[in-house]
Amino acid sequence: MRLDRFLAETTDLTRSLAKKALHRGEVSVNGTVTKQAASQVASTDRVEWAGQPLTLVGLRYVMLNKPSDVECSARRGLYPRAVDLIDLPKAERLQTVGRLDVDTTGLVLLTDDGQWSHRVSSPRRRCAKVYRASLAEPLAGDALAAAVRRFEEGLLLEGEEKPTLPAALVMRSPHEAELTLHEGRYHQVKRMFAAIGNRVTALHRESIGPLSLGNLALGEWRELSDDEVAGFD
Ligand code: URA
Repeated sequence: MRLDRFLAETTDLTRSLAKKALHRGEVSVNGTVTKQAASQVASTDRVEWAGQPLTLVGLRYVMLNKPSDVECSARRGLYPRAVDLIDLPKAERLQTVGRLDVDTTGLVLLTDDGQWSHRVSSPRRRCAKVYRASLAEPLAGDALAAAVRRFEEGLLLEGEEKPTLPAALVMRSPHEAELTLHEGRYHQVKRMFAAIGNRVTALHRESIGPLSLGNLALGEWRELSDDEVAGFD
């Protein structure tokens, strides 16, 4: 990798500020001051900027328990972004794997590995996502049996031509539903309950495939283990 790019990858410097730091003689490679932005560095080289050793960060994989009023968006908007909660170097390079609505809480994955993100969210994978939805109207008895059947058979959401994939509905209490989806359409959970005449008042994602939040509190995050990352291979 070129030395100026290495600096930009490992510090807060932009490529052009990295070149200026090089020019000022602030950078050394294996103990020798180097001013050439185009010189190549290998992973075994010891690069220092202003006496501080620099190391390349590899690909990162993070799970976050997203609070409400946080956006899964790359652009800055009205609310803080999910990446703003991740205290890692160069966190702004992380992207969310799919999205949760701003008022939905729960499990969000973030990574700078585009291929992994694609694998996790690929519709062909049909990865199970489990949601807990609080409902405005109680759901029990015959209405529940009908809802379970309609969700299992698939229903047509307003404005769409293809029915939803089979989804499993279990009630934890008359107002608390657990819904397992194998796809991720726009506002899907809220629209599915709207289609059966109910309304979601709060929504939380508990798991994606083999990954669940465990005891991660709202607003907390952690890096995934190698095995967790490999669970989507
Ligand atoms: N379904 C929704 O309606 N909202 C979400 O944030 C996720 C799934």
